[in-house]
Amino acid sequence: MDFELNQEQRMWQNTVHDFCDQHIRPYAAEFDEKAEPMKMTFRKMGALGLLALNIPEEFGGAGMDAVSAAIAIDELGYADGGTALSIAAHNGLGCAPISMFGSQMQKEEWLPGLSSGESGLGALALTEPGAGSDLVRGLSTRAELDGDSWVINGSKAWITNASLAPVIITLCRTDPEAGTAGFSLILVPSGTPGLHIHPSEKKMGVRSSPTHALTFENVRVPAANVLGEAGQGLYQTLQILDGGRISIGALSLGIARAALDEAIRYAKERELFGKQLADLQATRFKLADCQVEIDAAQLLVYRAAWLKEEGKPFTREAAIAKLYATEMAERVCREAIQILGSYGYSREYPVERMYRDARLMTIGEGTSEVQRMVIAKRVISG
Ligand SMILES: Cc1cc2nc3c(=O)[nH]c(=O)nc-3n(C[C@H](O)[C@H](O)[C@H](O)COP(=O)(O)OP(=O)(O)OC[C@H]3O[C@@H](n4cnc5c(N)ncnc54)[C@H](O)[C@@H]3O)c2cc1C
Repeated sequence: MDFELNQEQRMWQNTVHDFCDQHIRPYAAEFDEKAEPMKMTFRKMGALGLLALNIPEEFGGAGMDAVSAAIAIDELGYADGGTALSIAAHNGLGCAPISMFGSQMQKEEWLPGLSSGESGLGALALTEPGAGSDLVRGLSTRAELDGDSWVINGSKAWITNASLAPVIITLCRTDPEAGTAGFSLILVPSGTPGLHIHPSEKKMGVRSSPTHALTFENVRVPAANVLGEAGQGLYQTLQILDGGRISIGALSLGIARAALDEAIRYAKERELFGKQLADLQATRFKLADCQVEIDAAQLLVYRAAWLKEEGKPFTREAAIAKLYATEMAERVCREAIQILGSYGYSREYPVERMYRDARLMTIGEGTSEVQRMVIAKRVISG
């Protein structure tokens, strides 16, 4: 058993860390305040390979192993939770489905532009106003075959990157009689008539990541735009979400590490009761507990990523990693605010933003309750 990153992974970690330190972290507060994505960084991220983590090299991808992909999202999370969410969604939800299930033509059409950042960021539309955790029963967006086209009607909610995406991968009910085999993922180019992308939601956190409601009114796309085979959409979605959960775990890890570093920095500067805050035992215990939690989450996230890379089953491990890392990030950010006192509660210091960003992670890509359902099913059935 080897708990060390290999030399290539360490170099990648340093490279992404330095990139984020220069191009993302200094702007995190400003873009949170403005609630705007850092568009000026997309092409730079593309040049580094950050937009092609799951894309094979032949389509302009970075051909990266799953642990290296997790490292990249962790480092982005350290710099800015909102940007990291958009990039995690781009890689895990926008590009991965095309890489995994797309035809040669679909890959050639969409992946090069997505991996360079030239065409924008990827998006996956699953959630609807009436369907989040229970997509099987609740999903009402309908795609019907009409000659050689799909005609799509319905609405989606909370779709990350929709306003930045050249194509939105949309989960539709294509055969209402077929139960779990009645769903399909369909590629909907963003300029298609009848597709309306509503203004960005006003959110508590991850504000540099745009999130949109969508309406589909007789949206007509070629029948060939289905991803893989019609009827496979739900099974494909579950596989996509397994990978996405590792990513959200990694992102949470980055936010927690950043919050702990801020808390340590502050505790070393602040003096009270004739001592440094960092010398008071209650503070030291808090910092120690945070580090323990971060290390535990890191091991869980890397374990899930390693299993994915090895081609072994990782659904249970990805759910465990996401559940623990996301709840851990919230606890660590909370403690960081506590250590900074009033300053922690102020927008002048970054831990307030980190806390708001971390709060999303237990909700997006399957809530904590859904992760517990996934884990319990496997714990009980062995
Ligand atoms: C910032 C942001 C970005 C997002 N990005 C995307 C995206 O790119 N694409 C996309 O498709 N969606 C996206 N989402 C949607 C997100 O994935 C859903 O919000 C999430 O899956 C939960 O669905 P819901 O909000 O409908 O809650 P619901 O499913 O209605 O759940 C409500 C509550 O019930 C709980 N619950 C669920 N099942 C049970 C149970 N069996 N027992 C007890 N409690 C239960 C849930 O955990 C939750 O606490 C995003 C959301 C946000 C906020």
